Amino acid sequence: MNKLVATPERPEVLAYIALGANLGDAQASVRAAMQRIGALPQTRLITCSSLYRTAPFEATGPDFINAVVAVSTRLNAPELLLNLQRLENGAGRERAYRNAPRTLDLDILLYGDASICSPTLQVPHPRLWGRAFVLVPLAEIAPTKVSSAQLLAVASQEIERLV
Ligand code: ADP
Ligand code: MG
Repeated sequence: MNKLVATPERPEVLAYIALGANLGDAQASVRAAMQRIGALPQTRLITCSSLYRTAPFEATGPDFINAVVAVSTRLNAPELLLNLQRLENGAGRERAYRNAPRTLDLDILLYGDASICSPTLQVPHPRLWGRAFVLVPLAEIAPTKVSSAQLLAVASQEIERLV
């Protein structure tokens, strides 16, 4: 006899995503990406940070525009990464070389309380803590996630909040 078993609904997870761009109209790319992230399947945009301008960090090219968003999503972390990479590709992202200038970079900073260490996905993002362009916008929308000591450690990195 076939039993009808209800599939349990996946839990909603609060995830933080860093956005960065330094080619073309970087502000427009970051704003458009925020909307597209909010339109991903099973995903709601919860909060967007301000946009920030930063000098390239261990990279070359024009200044970056950076921001962080919080989403609530039922996608699992690899699915979220895949969807973000589709958005990067849709924005014309080419991976010419490490830290090359980019039309759009989308990184998963935090995925709930998960610790993930696979060849393609590390969460919390391994380079989260040393970078003002990630920590400052993250602290704006999630002050409890970033300590004042962590902010102090990146205080020498120039970052300008755009109004
Ligand atoms: P980066 O963001 O370090 O400048 P890329 O965007 O080219 O460089 O990402 C390189 C690889 O990093 C991706 O192919 C992806 O598999 C991997 N990666 C590992 N952890 C994460 C994460 N938390 N968010 C996004 N990409 C990640
Ligand atoms: Mg990336």
